[in-house]
Amino acid sequence: MRIGCPKEIKDHEYRVGLTPESARELVAHGHEVWIESGAGEGIGASDAEYVDAGAVIRDGPTPIFAECEMIVKVKEPQAVERSQLRKGQVLYTYLHLAPDPAQTADLLKSGVTAIAYETVTGANNSLPLLKPMSQVAGRMSIQAGASALEKAHGGRGVLLGGVPGVLPGKVVVIGGGVVGFNAAQMAVGLGADTTILDRDPEVLERLGIHFESRAKTRFSNTANLQEAVNEADLVIGAVLVPGAAAPRLVTREMLTGMKPGAVLVDVAIDQGGCFETSHPTTHSDPTYIVDGIVHYCVANMPGAVARTSTYALNNVTLPHALKIADLGWREAMRQNPHLAAGLNVQAGNVTYRAVAEELGYDY
Ligand code: NAD
Repeated sequence: MRIGCPKEIKDHEYRVGLTPESARELVAHGHEVWIESGAGEGIGASDAEYVDAGAVIRDGPTPIFAECEMIVKVKEPQAVERSQLRKGQVLYTYLHLAPDPAQTADLLKSGVTAIAYETVTGANNSLPLLKPMSQVAGRMSIQAGASALEKAHGGRGVLLGGVPGVLPGKVVVIGGGVVGFNAAQMAVGLGADTTILDRDPEVLERLGIHFESRAKTRFSNTANLQEAVNEADLVIGAVLVPGAAAPRLVTREMLTGMKPGAVLVDVAIDQGGCFETSHPTTHSDPTYIVDGIVHYCVANMPGAVARTSTYALNNVTLPHALKIADLGWREAMRQNPHLAAGLNVQAGNVTYRAVAEELGYDY
């Protein structure tokens, strides 16, 4: 199969669909890989590295969209890319179609076979192609929070790990799922005084077994939240209620009980945020202050560490890409129902129930 990887064109997107290492694997399976010149620039991968891996470098996206049987990307295709997709071509990328009627209409019109990373499933109802981005965001949240705690960034001037003779900072993580677990690992690793709140007893038990005495766990209710937040130097918002907007767990009134210069990092901002005072920010201007509390609410945190994020993403997307390329998408999906769950659009039909229901298409 001829597989193509164009350069991402969405604003501030530095990741790339295929690393040179992934290209090498596909080539080793007997496939032809076309990479748009400069596609790997954002992760520090040169055209020469792709050539060394056996890929062919093409100038601009046009030949890739025109002549490749499968397109591997990161972000949903932008309008100019959608206009180049062709009937029967496989598109393998993040799509997030439910809130995006314009993209859905264009994909239907194109006749493309669109497989969405975010709906490919794993064991126990997991979403393994979303997980690495939550791991990255969780780990990054402590880095971002530590930086915001510095005086020059509006914070209260606390070093999370403390030093011998001075107590460490207090980190409170709300939500102990993938983001929260990874945030807690980083906080504990720095030596911070770490507490994780969740409302799911099984999650609390798992965290308790994993962290033992290195982190405290606490049931999430209003009284416990208020007390934890009042004592915190850094609060990480990492809750998710599947299929719903994030619950507003920390109200504006609760900020008045917090220490001036404390920091809130709202990782759940992509679902609306779990602090009442959150609004989305960008990497170029990530923080703002409300009532003396520093807020960091960047909606695409993994974009800032494009190299790590691209490699983490490729680790989970490549095995399916190889199967699609080796067997064709129909047979690959027949053999693996988890991959079949990724099929969102095929030959002019919406093939994913939640997207069809949300946007009013037949399913
Ligand atoms: P997850 O499902 O693994 O974990 C969510 C946890 O929240 C669960 O353990 C759940 O029990 C807990 N929870 C639900 N309601 C709660 C409450 N009232 N109090 C305390 N805990 C509660 O989800 P995840 O993968 O960790 O993702 C968390 C959030 O981070 C999501 O909104 C996700 O979209 C977001 N996210 C953001 C970025 C970014 O760049 N900003 C990147 C990746 C993920």
